[in-house]
Amino acid sequence: MKTPVPERFFSEAYTSIISSTASTDALTIATRALATMQQAAIHGYPHEICGLLIGTLGGTHWQITEARQVANLNRERASDRFHLDPAAYQQIDRELRGTTHEIIGVFHSHPDCPAMPSPTDIGHAWEGFLYPIISVYASEIAEISWWRLSENSKQFQLVTDNIS
Ligand SMILES: [Zn+2]
Repeated sequence: MKTPVPERFFSEAYTSIISSTASTDALTIATRALATMQQAAIHGYPHEICGLLIGTLGGTHWQITEARQVANLNRERASDRFHLDPAAYQQIDRELRGTTHEIIGVFHSHPDCPAMPSPTDIGHAWEGFLYPIISVYASEIAEISWWRLSENSKQFQLVTDNIS
């Protein structure tokens, strides 16, 4: 799919936060979890949507079993910012306590923008979390890319998915 890329994605501020080396981590996701992310991005278009990834992280293997959309509290700039509802986070976190599963990442969409992280994204990213970005153009999924912070937390590293 050929899609226009806004000029800012070529700027130093954007390119400098992407590591030149990809992560060697493995990543698997349940078909239903992937569908949840895709549908949320499509239904939310042209606004940014966000949500939580639930699963297990065994060493360097991210295993996502469930994705849950959570309210984006940023209504002023809903087209290019997200602010995940902290109450929803706490509720899901509580629910998972005592189980083998936990919150292991945050997904969000980029309406009419590529699946590349922005300087805002890295400013809000947490160590040890997985950050998929869903690029959606004209209500259609263009691409999903998966990111995690590099060791020094200054850059995002691409995590290769195992989705066919
Ligand atoms: Zn973003």
